[in-house]
Amino acid sequence: MELRLHDTLTREKRTFAPLDPKNVRMYVCGPTVYDFAHIGNARPVIVFDVLFRLLRHLYGEAHVKYVRNITDVDDKINDRAARDFPGLPLNEAIRKVTEQTGKQFHADVDALGALRPTVEPRATEHIGEMREIIEKLLAGGFAYAAEDHVLFSPQAMNAANVGLPRYGALSNRSLDEMVAGARVDVAPYKKGNTDFVLWKPSKPGEPSWPSPAGIAAQGRPGWHIECSAMAWKHLGEHFDIHGGGIDLVFPHHENEVAQTCCAFHQQRMANYWMHNGFLQVESEKMSKSLGNFITIHELLKDWPGEVLRLNMLKTQYRSPIDWTVKSLEESAKTLDDWYRVAADVAPTEPAASVIEPLLDDLNTPQAIAALHGLRGNDIAGLAGSLRLLGFLSESAAQWESRKQQASGIDAKEVECLIAERTAARARKDFKESDRIRDLLATMGVAIKDSKEGTTWEIVR
Ligand code: AMP
Ligand code: ZN
Repeated sequence: MELRLHDTLTREKRTFAPLDPKNVRMYVCGPTVYDFAHIGNARPVIVFDVLFRLLRHLYGEAHVKYVRNITDVDDKINDRAARDFPGLPLNEAIRKVTEQTGKQFHADVDALGALRPTVEPRATEHIGEMREIIEKLLAGGFAYAAEDHVLFSPQAMNAANVGLPRYGALSNRSLDEMVAGARVDVAPYKKGNTDFVLWKPSKPGEPSWPSPAGIAAQGRPGWHIECSAMAWKHLGEHFDIHGGGIDLVFPHHENEVAQTCCAFHQQRMANYWMHNGFLQVESEKMSKSLGNFITIHELLKDWPGEVLRLNMLKTQYRSPIDWTVKSLEESAKTLDDWYRVAADVAPTEPAASVIEPLLDDLNTPQAIAALHGLRGNDIAGLAGSLRLLGFLSESAAQWESRKQQASGIDAKEVECLIAERTAARARKDFKESDRIRDLLATMGVAIKDSKEGTTWEIVR
């Protein structure tokens, strides 16, 4: 069966045909590293990790290149650096913020079972490529310099209209409407009110680099040009898949397309544009002011990363997710069971019943239903399928002992109580044995008696 993916540009599911099956190329917009990543940020990480794994399964591990950038030049980073390290020169403070946040991001996404992308480029290491693209855009008449800024003109792009996409096509907007609806207080150096920044002057103390030809002052890049440059450097002028959250369609991705297609005279930047839906918490929009803003770091204190991963995949990636504790509890129970029956089993190939729904635009809820189906009759297939999806990274014993640690339950104490209960039962003191069973239950421990003896597990 073939892989079908929903493309935001054409607004339909299309059969995936890579430009080169020996080198399938995907770019996903990564984090801006100034703070802990929240659980909404985990969604594109997990969704595109599943796609990465599926592509590797279909085309071979050596034939898929996944690039996810790190944005380490941004106003939010500068603000955070000045706030957190007021005693340090700004550049040093910025380095501290981006280093710490980058490390934390890696720790978080590793715990979520996400493979590292093939390349994780940093914006600050691609300023040369940004300058090159900007110079091409200036030379082509798509951009102009004004007061030490370089601006891109969507109107120039749509007027040129030679083998280029239409500005606004990806986000399904009309440029005329954008022009009419734009704010009136546009910066004075902009010729058109929809023009966006490719390059801007740095304020004193801010990171700065030599500007594109024709601009004397040192400066720094705009946000959109960063991704065009990193995608170009690592994937070329035209590649297969570009992904990110739905909020990035406009203006970020619309502008990336404009920059890349105009610089390289391409009709397309990526052949498939994929966008994940938004995550909300207990039916509310996640925001700092509502106090329901949860970081991955916080959640990992209460839940294993694979529980967060399963919980995320219970919803198809394009639908909104409502993130609830109730759903997390169910995901934890499911994984406890899968670990018990499948973690120590030699896996076979992933089951066709799991792969098929994945091929249909990553229908993960359907794939999870298929996993439940395998639970009854094909444990080795369940193990193989779970591994493909990024689960079962630990042994059953590791999973159980981590659960014990997290629950604060002392295994020795439990064993001791069970021994006392066994002794009570042997002398037919059922009142005492029931008391111990109830005591264990209040601690969150369930026991099971069989011919071989008494076993126990933690019930959440
Ligand atoms: P940012 O660092 O804000 O640029 O976000 C990094 C990635 O997380 C982008 O792909 C965003 O679209 C995505 N994202 C941010 N908030 C949410 C959310 N609440 N639900 C789903 N994805 C999100
Ligand atoms: Zn981007």
